[in-house]
Amino acid sequence: MQKIKVKNNRLINFSRKKDIEKAERVRKLIVEVINDEHFRTEILKADFKDRRYIDENRNTTEIKNNEIILQKIISGKEQYTGENEDFEWDLRITLYRSLTSEIGHRSRETIFTKKKKFRSMSERYIASHWIHEYMHVIGFTHDYKKTNIRPYSVPYLIGTIASNTLETKEYDFIT
Ligand SMILES: [Zn+2]
Repeated sequence: MQKIKVKNNRLINFSRKKDIEKAERVRKLIVEVINDEHFRTEILKADFKDRRYIDENRNTTEIKNNEIILQKIISGKEQYTGENEDFEWDLRITLYRSLTSEIGHRSRETIFTKKKKFRSMSERYIASHWIHEYMHVIGFTHDYKKTNIRPYSVPYLIGTIASNTLETKEYDFIT
């Protein structure tokens, strides 16, 4: 099994030391999940109902084969960075303030997370949010209003599988 690395490549507005420490714990959770055999098996079995993938030239295709979806996920090839497949997820996170109810979103290679949510929500919650947004960073998309298929798009379903994987495991970083 190809081992994947995760790097907090760029953290913006992590103004307290505690924020950076929390980002590091979230990063470790993500490493655990994406290198979990069960997680990868679930991806191969997953019933995606929206397989849309948008490349850097904004061409949309559908990826019919789950093996290829998994390959893209583990390749670590972020869009708009000129990077090749390096089997390393580079997370570029910006914290921001907003009064809207969203947790965050993504723009090009950057994941935006509301500072208040980042500080109040659990590490597992933030980990699945970053995993969801990272699916956008590598090109997967979903409906932007609520539809029946949205929960079965790659970003949503991978986020769910990751969150379930984290729930069934007790990761211990106390040492
Ligand atoms: Zn999304």
